[in-house]
Amino acid sequence: MKISIIGTGYVGLVTGVCLSMRGHHVTCYDNDKNVVESLNKCKPTFYENGLKNNLSTVMTNNGFQTKIISNSTNFDSEIIMVTVGTPFLNGKIDLTFIKEVAKTIGIYLRSVTQFVSVVIKSTVVPGTTDTVIRKIIEKYSGKKIGEFGLGMNPEFLREGNAFEDALEPDRIVLGYEDYETLKLLRKLYESWETEKIEVNTRTAEMIKYANNSLLATQISAVNEIANITQEIGDIDVMDVMRGVFSDKRWSPIHQDGSRIYPDILKYLIPGCGFGGSCFPKDLMAFKVLAEELGINPKMLNSILEINERQPYQIVRLLKKILPILEDAKILILGLAFKPDTDDIRNSVSIEVIRYLLNENAILYAHDPQAIANMQSFLKPQKNLNYVTAWQEILKQIDVIIVLTEWIEYKKIAKNPLIKLMDKKIIFDARRLFNAKEFPRSKYLTIGRSINST
Ligand code: NAD
Repeated sequence: MKISIIGTGYVGLVTGVCLSMRGHHVTCYDNDKNVVESLNKCKPTFYENGLKNNLSTVMTNNGFQTKIISNSTNFDSEIIMVTVGTPFLNGKIDLTFIKEVAKTIGIYLRSVTQFVSVVIKSTVVPGTTDTVIRKIIEKYSGKKIGEFGLGMNPEFLREGNAFEDALEPDRIVLGYEDYETLKLLRKLYESWETEKIEVNTRTAEMIKYANNSLLATQISAVNEIANITQEIGDIDVMDVMRGVFSDKRWSPIHQDGSRIYPDILKYLIPGCGFGGSCFPKDLMAFKVLAEELGINPKMLNSILEINERQPYQIVRLLKKILPILEDAKILILGLAFKPDTDDIRNSVSIEVIRYLLNENAILYAHDPQAIANMQSFLKPQKNLNYVTAWQEILKQIDVIIVLTEWIEYKKIAKNPLIKLMDKKIIFDARRLFNAKEFPRSKYLTIGRSINST
């Protein structure tokens, strides 16, 4: 099938490359000249596992293209997919980009006779596709829905695992307003042997918000339990959670006695909170929608409030054993909001860095992929240095804080250089280690009483 994708960021580019890998003729569009020029040289504009190789393969073998968009673009496709950003701005979801694109598509549809389906993949609050988007397309095309198609196909990929998630998703949600669009979506995903859920567009939109809200609920719930545990004394919340997880409703038991440990349990490991380009903004947009509907979203408010406070737990706990952080030399390991990506949007590391700079600590920040992005967001300054080889400065460091679960950080306990941290502090904010791995250091983590160190 001929497919156009508008918005060539994390979702648009990965989706485009995957559809191309499955034999579709894909053109990705963007309004950012740098993005288009860079991709045309086969240079990805962000880091994602497998992206460089897969992009190069589809550009060479499958005719994958990237083009600049304009109001006279001839999309020449059966489906136009929309994957532009939908940030949270000025107290609500910002639909500026998606409205702009709906207008461009409407102008294009005015001049074509062929039936085209417009499929929204960006995350938008329930009711957006079949009201806001539909009206704009109808206005600028002069056509009614039915003369063009409208669908909503929410994306569930996780950065860092994007190709695996897009090529082997758990389910594909096919939201549609007209039967022609459903038929086109079925054809688009024909080669994906996975459960397909066919619903109207607002149900499709709601599935995405319900999914993210429930995942975020687990994270805030376990963080609250961890914070309480921490204060009781002589308890490690991971021992508590081991006891919880062995309930067979969390980890079902096979007939042979072995257990299944579902992925959801990873969301029940305490840490310094969730960040990233989706959870925080999606929960806020969902909460505002609830308020507009006259519902007091108590649960969403609590999830967000716990999460906002969580990065400060690190400073609070650290100060219990190092009351004055002024001039303390702290190595921050991890800037990306999660491993295997260079994305720093709403990364917890930003908050932790800001709190520590307020305390006048001297920071050395490292990440395997995200230094450039963080440097352009938080410029190097008096007490904020970026380092590419953390091993070289270990001698002068008083505290290490591990904030992102990169594999290379998991190896630090076995690195002979770690003996330079004897009697010093290692703050494992992501529960990568256990205290026994650092017998000569002061090991701190979320949900483990300080007096256990
Ligand atoms: P992004 O910011 O990485 O990419 C958006 C792209 O759209 C940018 O390259 C931008 O230049 C382009 N763009 C903006 N306005 C445009 C216009 N008028 N015409 C053409 N291009 C335009 O965003 P993203 O992370 O890919 O997210 C896109 C959507 O997908 C969002 O709604 C997000 O919530 C959702 N989503 C993201 C993820 C994720 O992990 N990133 C996962 C699931 C869903």
